[in-house]
Amino acid sequence: MNFAKNCELSLIIPCYNEAEVLPLLATRLLKSLAALNLSWEVIFVDDGSVDTTSQQLAAMHLAEPRFKVLSFSRNFGHQTAIYAGLSHASGQWVGIMDADLQDPPEILSSCMEKLREGYDVVYAVRRKRKENLLKRIAYALFYRILKQVAEIDIPLDSGDFCVMSRPVVEVLRQLPERNVFLRGLRAWTGFRQIGVEYEREARAAGETKYPLKKLVRLATDGIFAFSTLPLRLSIYLGLFVLLASMGLGFFNIAWRIFGFRFMGHTAAELPGWTTLVCGMLFLGGVQLLILGCIGEYIGRIYSEVKQRPRWIVRETLGLAPQGEDRVARTEP
Ligand code: UDP
Ligand code: MG
Repeated sequence: MNFAKNCELSLIIPCYNEAEVLPLLATRLLKSLAALNLSWEVIFVDDGSVDTTSQQLAAMHLAEPRFKVLSFSRNFGHQTAIYAGLSHASGQWVGIMDADLQDPPEILSSCMEKLREGYDVVYAVRRKRKENLLKRIAYALFYRILKQVAEIDIPLDSGDFCVMSRPVVEVLRQLPERNVFLRGLRAWTGFRQIGVEYEREARAAGETKYPLKKLVRLATDGIFAFSTLPLRLSIYLGLFVLLASMGLGFFNIAWRIFGFRFMGHTAAELPGWTTLVCGMLFLGGVQLLILGCIGEYIGRIYSEVKQRPRWIVRETLGLAPQGEDRVARTEP
């Protein structure tokens, strides 16, 4: 296990088309990191940006070598970018933060305080979100559903924004999973964890890089990676359908034998059309639902067994390529 630490704090910042916010981010970072009074590095993971992000990051690295850059060959996604950052972070503590300043770097000082008290993970909990109502409701609902169905205790309203100690990072780095949901895995590692509350600002500049499709993907990754309830659902639903159909069966037999009238008809007049149609549709629906759930798991198993590299690095600045990186080019 490589526990080498070149600095005290490594900060990982995934960036996808964040050109507009980078100048502001650099200023705020330099100020709050200086206030921490420790040795640090910032690893920007350029997740296949198509704007001027990579040029800006290169310029930032030139001006401040502690700003290091890992550029992907294409967009691999936010969670993968964080993971790649983790594999390069050399700090005794490792922080994760969004580029858009929704996670204010000023909070880092209270995180560091908690870490020095002996905690291994300090995660930020969003007390308030300055986002549109629909998104706020969706987030609140998602975290509550996840809490109900997940087999581990994932704290409510905590995102990826956190600082972790080296042992936690080593555990995370050694996980071979491809469909990563960091906030779940982080909770899963155990150790001593604590939350610090903060108000989530609105994005400082630019547009969200998380369209609905990516958000749904993240949410389903969270649920399917930490719960087998959807699979077990088939047992409960199956049991329910079995009992209901048995009841219906007994009723139909009694209706035929005793010849009483039900809804104005005897069984002999109506040879079971409604029962058949309802039963068929209901069972069809239940089967499709369960098949879909099983499909979600199989799809994830498939992507795991393919064993493709999780990311491909196009270029590194201030970082030596290692382990999983498939590197095309590094700085001279
Ligand atoms: N991000 C990324 N790859 C992506 C999408 C987003 O690295 O495919 C980064 C993005 O640059 C930002 C962070 O992930 O630093 C969170 O994205 P964003 O702020 O757009 O999400 P939101 O806060 O709107 O949910
Ligand atoms: Mg954001």
